[in-house]
Amino acid sequence: MLYKSTRGKVNSISFKDAVMMGLATDGGLLVPEHIPTISNNEIQALSKMNYQQTAFEIISRFIGDDFSPTDLRDLIERSYATFDHPEITPVIKKDGVYILELFHGPTLAFKDVALQLLGNIFEYLLAERGEKMNILGATSGDTGSAAIYGVRGKDNINIFIMHPHGKVSPIQELQMTTVTDSNVFNLAINGTFDDGQRIVKEVFGDLDFKKKYSLGAVNSINWARVMAQIVYYFYAYSRISSETESELIDFSVPTGNFGDIFAGYVAKRMGLPIGKLILATNENNILSRFVLNGDYSVATVVETLSPSMDIQIASNFERYLYYLLDEDSDSLTALMESFSSSNSLQFDQQLQARVNQDFTSLTVDTKGTLEQISSFYADTEYILDPHTAVGVKAGIELSDPDIPVVCLATAHPAKFAEAVNQAIGTNPERPQSLIGIEQRPHRCELIDADTPQIKEYLAQRSR
Ligand SMILES: *Cc1c(COP(=O)(O)O)cnc(C)c1O
Repeated sequence: MLYKSTRGKVNSISFKDAVMMGLATDGGLLVPEHIPTISNNEIQALSKMNYQQTAFEIISRFIGDDFSPTDLRDLIERSYATFDHPEITPVIKKDGVYILELFHGPTLAFKDVALQLLGNIFEYLLAERGEKMNILGATSGDTGSAAIYGVRGKDNINIFIMHPHGKVSPIQELQMTTVTDSNVFNLAINGTFDDGQRIVKEVFGDLDFKKKYSLGAVNSINWARVMAQIVYYFYAYSRISSETESELIDFSVPTGNFGDIFAGYVAKRMGLPIGKLILATNENNILSRFVLNGDYSVATVVETLSPSMDIQIASNFERYLYYLLDEDSDSLTALMESFSSSNSLQFDQQLQARVNQDFTSLTVDTKGTLEQISSFYADTEYILDPHTAVGVKAGIELSDPDIPVVCLATAHPAKFAEAVNQAIGTNPERPQSLIGIEQRPHRCELIDADTPQIKEYLAQRSR
């Protein structure tokens, strides 16, 4: 399988090169030259497979023979050995909806599913190529800890993650700073999340520096992350297809950067019988406005109870747009350029109608989120985290009565205990990985939000 850029200037590169490139060098995003397909018989066969075997079946189709089957199996096994549930992403049924629990990884959010695998793939490729990598990233919470856990203790990789000092939740901060492996550098910057993002941009913009220190990124534009997330759509389908008369299944996905739900779109294009992809957003609803009205215009970010979805510009959206424009790189490039100058795109009814063949959407505000957590708890004694609650509410309101809906549970409620407490008046029980986290040794450096200082810090500690 070969890869190409949405902007058309990078073509026919291998899976391995696509993973190492991250963002395409022409400014676009990498996608497979053809989306692989899977037959109905092959989908039927998945119901007898466990998660790791399913992952092997799906991922093989995207990597061709870039890895030997033995090596790929080993990478998958090791990546999911860190999960605390034997099914990796179990599906449970509560109150007529299916919940796909994606939070059994080391940092209790769905990002672990992709970043555990990506860390192992990086380590494998760096060893093979005799190269080193220094990962630099800025986080407002979830991504940083999942990235740190993805590469902690790995050979040939150092990771530097900036978070805004005092502005991430205590649990999120501790999940990062209690990782004391020598290749992990936590930087609390005196500034905001936006400062962190600006610094990352400036450092990566210095191409000599980037090359000299082999800088790498782990943000959600890496194709390997999308690929790892496609797996659980198939897994969920194969767990419940025997229980239902319906051939189609809907999925409801709490959405921020459009990575997770885009993986569902690819699964559908591969041949998985998905009815609708329900795009659930909080008040930061640019994507919801796009799906419902063809209006993709940036508004200011507001803080909500589901902070990992407090995003305006969705980094994976370009991939979807590319398919919506029938893989026409020139039109896509023109649209993206127009977007970057005006911060807004408007789509006509014809394109809109095509979007609605695959997607529907709901915005769930703070009040709706709290009510959903509280009513679901009253009915089922199951505690939803605020991100998951947004998806469950959208799933219940928008699904067809004849089609089962699977709601993606993207975080463990104990990660967002304050919001949960606000809804139900009690704290969710902590899973093993959080018990006593406050007492563990931690390591973190306080530093100014100043690009030259960060560069200096990185230069001294790089691989
Ligand atoms: C990152 C994240 C999301 C949003 O996922 P996208 O792929 O960015 O759309 C939703 N919920 C949680 C808990 C997250 O960490």
